[in-house]
Amino acid sequence: MHELSLAVNVVDYLTKLAEEQRLSEVNEVYIEIGDLTHINGSQLKFSLKMASEGTVAQGAKFFVRRRRASMKCNACGKSSKIDMKAMLSDYEFCCPRCKSREVEFEQGKELVLKRVKGSKKKGA
Ligand SMILES: [Zn+2]
Repeated sequence: MHELSLAVNVVDYLTKLAEEQRLSEVNEVYIEIGDLTHINGSQLKFSLKMASEGTVAQGAKFFVRRRRASMKCNACGKSSKIDMKAMLSDYEFCCPRCKSREVEFEQGKELVLKRVKGSKKKGA
């Protein structure tokens, strides 16, 4: 299960972060997933809950939202957002400005931890 291995990575990261920042617990975690990934948001949340059991992130609230994919045109340099719904029927991506097909994805394949809220250890 793809989501579970991602969740384990996220929790590993949170554990390290908590150590570095001397957090006694992680309360809120904001995650964005790119539109080009095939991650299922609710499955990811569920996996995060499971993976965080017994760690510093246990009981944390996980917020997952999708982030628009974008591409960059190698011909004219324009960056543009990709509307995945509009693209579903069209597998050929091209630049909206110059119509070049020399485009590459800039964003959309990533999972980003936007923000982590935690509580400091007492006396720290
Ligand atoms: Zn272009």
